[in-house]
Amino acid sequence: MSVRNARNCQPCTACCDGWVQIKVKGCEAYPGKPCPHSTGSGCDDYGNRPVNPCQTFECAWVQKDSDLPDNFKPSESGVLVINSILQWQGLTVDLAVPVGQKIPEASLSWLMQYAEKSMRPLIYQQQDDNDKEIQKNPLTLAYGPPAFQQWVLEQQQKGIPLW
Ligand code: SF4
Ligand code: SF4
Repeated sequence: MSVRNARNCQPCTACCDGWVQIKVKGCEAYPGKPCPHSTGSGCDDYGNRPVNPCQTFECAWVQKDSDLPDNFKPSESGVLVINSILQWQGLTVDLAVPVGQKIPEASLSWLMQYAEKSMRPLIYQQQDDNDKEIQKNPLTLAYGPPAFQQWVLEQQQKGIPLW
């Protein structure tokens, strides 16, 4: 959404394009429904963009001291990562959403290895293969200890939002 440090957003608009669900000036953006101001390579109302989420949102790739490799820029890697989406039993959990249908296998494999190495369970989303169109709410999956996977499943079965 802006220029922040050595890693610049431009021309990425993955968050503006709704791959992570946001509300901008009362208007929802979600998978398949970008913010109306997104041009696909920038914002056509940049000067008037609201503070929240436009000026404050940072994906994990653009954050200072990010652990993600250079080639994880969401517009290039096909995955948008949000740090510390929730806490589970004292562990910090990260979220990865696809920029498109699926998180590419190589990116997902890297994130899973990172989750193990860093003891940070991962929640990730994928569009269902059976759906012809992009769904607002993709499948939500978990990677981490079995008890964590079970917990994520139970929250979903009970209809409790995870974050
Ligand atoms: S997804 Fe990340 S890199 Fe892309 S525009 Fe949003 S904050 Fe910037
Ligand atoms: S108003 Fe601009 S910066 Fe904010 S989400 Fe929409 S396109 Fe992105």
